[in-house]
This record gives sequence, structure tokens and C-alpha cells, in this order.
Amino acid sequence: MKHNFIKLRTEPLEVTLLKLLRSRFVLPEETNNYYLSKLKGYEGECYLDSLLATLTSNSLILCDLLFEQNNTTFQIDTLLLSQKTLYLFEVKNLEGDYYIKNGDWFRKSTGKAITNPVHQLKRCETLLRSLLHSRNIRMEIEPYLVFTNPLFTLYQSPLDMPAFFPGQLNSLLKKLNRSSSEMNGSHQQLAQFLLSRHVIDSPYGRLPEYRYEDLQKGVTCRKCMSLNVAVTKYTTICNACSHAEKNVSCILQVAKDLKLLFPDRLLTLNAVEHWCNYLYSKKAIQRVLGTNYKLINKGKYSYYL
Ligand SMILES: [Zn+2]
Repeated sequence: MKHNFIKLRTEPLEVTLLKLLRSRFVLPEETNNYYLSKLKGYEGECYLDSLLATLTSNSLILCDLLFEQNNTTFQIDTLLLSQKTLYLFEVKNLEGDYYIKNGDWFRKSTGKAITNPVHQLKRCETLLRSLLHSRNIRMEIEPYLVFTNPLFTLYQSPLDMPAFFPGQLNSLLKKLNRSSSEMNGSHQQLAQFLLSRHVIDSPYGRLPEYRYEDLQKGVTCRKCMSLNVAVTKYTTICNACSHAEKNVSCILQVAKDLKLLFPDRLLTLNAVEHWCNYLYSKKAIQRVLGTNYKLINKGKYSYYL
């Protein structure tokens, strides 16, 4: 029941930008690992969304929220508002074996400590509570960690940990379906209040430095992000994964990529032509830009908005 979703999840801009960058440029290893863990996290969150979409009880669901409270920024993966309770879900798509020792979390294979997810959850809960109190909203909050990866195992976890493990996701859904769900205007108001406090994050400052000159030019396959594609009269075919796409949609996509990676650059015919490494004719590019953007006609210095 998708209609429960007040705010849907979309791929985080940071993930999109890093995905585009790494197809054209070798990312520093640390950044690449960061990208992979972000992508994995996003996949876990989408998986929880797909489960919550099957709920039969009434509830309001808000995905991927970013708030500022008490001069601190905090991010919430999923909020589910039922009649009496606000469920706060922190999704973890961790894979492999982990253990807890003296309250700290470690990865078994490396013995390296990871950020304690329970502390992370507690922090979110405290800040969310403070946000609600600032509006005099008294609502019971139930925070949970949700582990989505079937290949995840946690040793020595305390029995009272507020968490649902991969084998318990069904019982989470059952629990949510059981909770009473007479929703009224005040729930809608609360959802709208939360939405109004959501802030937009700009990831550009966190990206590694990159220059246009350093990025490989060409057309990326949308499916596997390979730059190894062949252009035929109407379609662009990926040599790596065989994915085929209409040229018009590829041209539009590369133009969008260029604008995303270089928001300060003017979108011109020549710029797009160069960016795709001349794989498409000027005419074809002109047609696509003309139908999707507004032409600011300045003769030789024309650009698209
Ligand atoms: Zn491909």
C-alpha cells in the first residue's frame, strides 16, 4: 500500500554523484569504500521500504529525513507514524559477522571497531524527542535498529537490544499490522510538521576534488555504468552488459550528468558533444536539448537552461 508513504526515498544525491564520478575517474580508495557502504545502506533502506509497502494497517511513512535540532544535524532512515506510536527505524545493511564486547561493536574478520549502532539510534531518538517537544508534541517514540542483510550475524547481542534481525523482519511487519491505526488530522499535521522541518543536504563539499579535464569523456551505460558502449542509428548498446537504450534518452541522461557534476558550467551544444566524446551527432544532441531545456539564444554563445 504505497499510499502510506508521505515521503518516498530517492537515491541520495551523494550516491548519484559518486556513481557518476567513479565511472569516469578513479576514486581515492577511501572514497570508493565510502561510496560502496552508502550504496549498500541505501539498498537496505529500499528493502525495508518494500516490506513496509505491504502493511495493511493505516500508518504514515516518511523516508530519509534530515533535521537540524539544537544546532546538530541528524538523519532518520524511516519514520512510521501509527495511531499512538512514532516508530523510528535505523536501517543497517551490514554483512558478515560482528560481535559486541564491553558495549563496543567489532567486525569479526578484522577485529576493527565500528560505530555503535545502538548509540547512533539513541542519539537520533533524543534529538527527535527534542524536536517534537519544541512543538509541544507528546508522542511515544519506539526506536529500532533494523538489520536487513540475510548474511549478517551478531554475536553476544543483549536480549533487550531494540533491534530486528534479518530473520525477524516478518515479526516486525506483524507487530506493525497489529498496532491500532485510527489515523486522524493530528497525525497528518504531525507528518506535515516533520516534512516542513526536513532540510536539504548538499553533498558537493564532501566530494573528492575533481576537474572536468580529469574525467573520462563518453556515454555511461545506465545499468552497469560502463563507458564501453556502441552507438547505432537509434540505440546505444552497452558492450559490457548488453543493455540497450534509445539514443534520445541517453543523450538527455549524459546532459543531466554533466549538469549534476558541474552545476556552474553552462549547458551548451558543444559542451554536451565533447562530454559524450562525439558519439552522437550535433543534430541529435540539439534535438534532445531543444525538447527538454529552454534555449537561451545568444548566437555563438547560446546555452540551455
Ligand atoms: Zn552496461
